[in-house]
Amino acid sequence: MSDKSYLIVGAGVFGVSTAYHLIRKYPEASITIVDRDAYDADSRVAASWDWNKVVRADYDDLVYCQLGIEAQDVFRSDPLWKPYFHETGIYWMCRSDYAQDVLDNYKKLGRRADLSAVPVDEAKKLYGGLFEDADYTGVKEVLVNKTSGWAAAGDCLIAITKEVLRLGVKYVTAEVTGLEFDIPGRCTGVTTPKGDVLKASHVILCTGAYTPKLLELSAASTGKKDLSAGPRIVAGGITTGMTTLDDKSYSRFASMPVGVQGYTAKQGPFIGSLPPTKDKELKWWGQTIFKNTSEVLPGRLISMPPAEPDYAQWNVSGRLKEDINHANHVFYGKKGASWKMEKHRICWDAFTTSADFIISPHAAAKGLFVATCGNFHGWKFFPVLGKYIVQMLEGSLSPELAEKWAWDRERPDASGNADYPRWEMKDLLDPVRTSKL
Ligand SMILES: Cc1cc2nc3c(=O)[nH]c(=O)nc-3n(C[C@H](O)[C@H](O)[C@H](O)COP(=O)(O)OP(=O)(O)OC[C@H]3O[C@@H](n4cnc5c(N)ncnc54)[C@H](O)[C@@H]3O)c2cc1C
Repeated sequence: MSDKSYLIVGAGVFGVSTAYHLIRKYPEASITIVDRDAYDADSRVAASWDWNKVVRADYDDLVYCQLGIEAQDVFRSDPLWKPYFHETGIYWMCRSDYAQDVLDNYKKLGRRADLSAVPVDEAKKLYGGLFEDADYTGVKEVLVNKTSGWAAAGDCLIAITKEVLRLGVKYVTAEVTGLEFDIPGRCTGVTTPKGDVLKASHVILCTGAYTPKLLELSAASTGKKDLSAGPRIVAGGITTGMTTLDDKSYSRFASMPVGVQGYTAKQGPFIGSLPPTKDKELKWWGQTIFKNTSEVLPGRLISMPPAEPDYAQWNVSGRLKEDINHANHVFYGKKGASWKMEKHRICWDAFTTSADFIISPHAAAKGLFVATCGNFHGWKFFPVLGKYIVQMLEGSLSPELAEKWAWDRERPDASGNADYPRWEMKDLLDPVRTSKL
């Protein structure tokens, strides 16, 4: 490995997990992470940087169910990861056969766990009746998995980043504006706005929602049209919001499970409510997932995060704040009616129509690799993502995973993917007031 060097662009869970697995396998390797934000900055654009994220293996897709179990085993047993995982359980109101599909997958994997599909009337009495006022319209049954939970996402991301730095990985805080190629066309590094060139034999893009824009700009500046992601990757945004509970409510909600309102693909995306953090903040995510289709270059339209350095993530419109009020209502009804909503944020992730990651060599250039597309569900795999990304780099990924996560593969129509961005951000902004003189 001595002649190999790795440049990982992006310090979210895909990038940091790659660095973690690489440096543990090859302690002498030259590995650099480059990100526009410092890993311990007060505000970051990374989807991975958040107060908390759901950690579960409750998937109807067998591959992600297995991967979720593998990641949870690390969260439960490894002293590095353990402090960040809270095994509070999950309470998932299902309007399809989702609960049965999850139970079947656990069975197929031979995994015994404390999970069951509970009839609605019985479920309403669980957890001291916390979800008794939820909206159960169309709910068939409730999946209760006591082994699922949540992680303190930002704290965990910082801790693992510090660990990789301790092990010898370098961290450069800089915006990457382009990719470098040698004459035969191999990717040899990246460029920054100051004109610095960072070089490596392997360049791995873990750039989340920014990936289509970076590839589009690189395609234009190098004339290598095939670098463009085309319809493979779409940047999508979603709103989160929080309330701070008073002491009385906190004592009731402190040990609550993660709540999920599951809908069919036709009805819309699933929405969730996360248990309070140590600062007594209860969080929701909304049901409106949107693109921001904009002209990246004259005549080239793609969805990308807003151009501001912070993706304008704290600038949340009234319409999107309403999304969080709706989420509050369908989980807690009258219990949450007086809660004041605060800390709204728009979080951007990269989506594929099948909701699969892309973990693959880029087909247009040797030396260039892509590892991203969390599809709004990637955080929970943080402990193990890098293991598979290293396998991809070494060509030893199983054929099933190599095909599922390929750059080039057949992709289904997005209509079966409830979480695929369906709205346009421009239609969700506050109206601009014009004053009459
Ligand atoms: C609101 C919301 C809630 C979610 N909830 C959950 C959940 O409960 N459970 C779960 O498992 N998943 C959840 N997800 C999904 C999960 O957060 C993402 O799938 C995952 O974090 C994506 O990680 P990433 O490393 O691909 O991207 P990111 O975390 O976005 O990281 C990308 C990094 O690349 C850097 N970067 C990009 N472009 C450049 C550039 N040109 N130069 C330098 N740096 C660059 C960015 O600064 C950023 O740090 C949620 C997502 C959102 C948006």
